[in-house]
Amino acid sequence: MSIAAQYAEVSSEVRDECELVGRAVSEVTLVAVSKTVGLAGVEQAIAAGATDFGENRPDQLVAKAEAFPQVRWHFIGNIQSRQIPKIVQHAHLIHSLFEERHAAKIGEAAAALGKVQEVLLEVNVSGEQSKSGVDPASLPALVEFVGALPQVRIRGLMTMAPQGDRDAAQRAFAGLRRLADEIRSGMDAVQAASFDQLSMGMSEDWRIGIEEGATIVRIGRAIFSDDFA
Ligand SMILES: *Cc1c(COP(=O)(O)O)cnc(C)c1O
Repeated sequence: MSIAAQYAEVSSEVRDECELVGRAVSEVTLVAVSKTVGLAGVEQAIAAGATDFGENRPDQLVAKAEAFPQVRWHFIGNIQSRQIPKIVQHAHLIHSLFEERHAAKIGEAAAALGKVQEVLLEVNVSGEQSKSGVDPASLPALVEFVGALPQVRIRGLMTMAPQGDRDAAQRAFAGLRRLADEIRSGMDAVQAASFDQLSMGMSEDWRIGIEEGATIVRIGRAIFSDDFA
């Protein structure tokens, strides 16, 4: 199938899943993770209706966002300090913030550009060694630090589930939602009102994400790869 056809199919499956679990389709944003394709692949997905794309490498984010400024670009990758200004220049939403020093730099870069950068805090809910993210016990302190930065707005949380284990994915996503509820209940009304996003679910486990309350699913292979079953 073509990328356009695969995008259309995933998009309609996301709609079906929302209906199945009784959620409004408008609550869930499908982010097409285009990290494995070039500009032509992005163009095909846009032609099929894609509005949001995710990249995990700053250079790719810049190149693709400059080529296609009409769609929203999400940064979902590892953050390195010296790359922060260009990430902030192009990212609609940064999903992968979990270090205070990076938050401070994001605030500085956003101030220089006269913008408020929206971010999600990445949480290592499953506790796997290989996963990045703040551990749940340290999340409240991180929320407090980032929440005090005037040029940074915390929109919610993000996690990656263990792959190949549906039960573990379900636990991780349910855990992220509980953490978000706890954090929100400790926020003032203004902060709580915009703390409404849960980015959880990829090609293998996005249905579980939607069942557990995801508002953003990040799907790569199911859209852009020929051989994702
Ligand atoms: C690559 C990537 C995805 C997409 O993964 P697929 O399994 O290809 O759908 C989602 N989130 C992050 C952070 C990624 O790096």
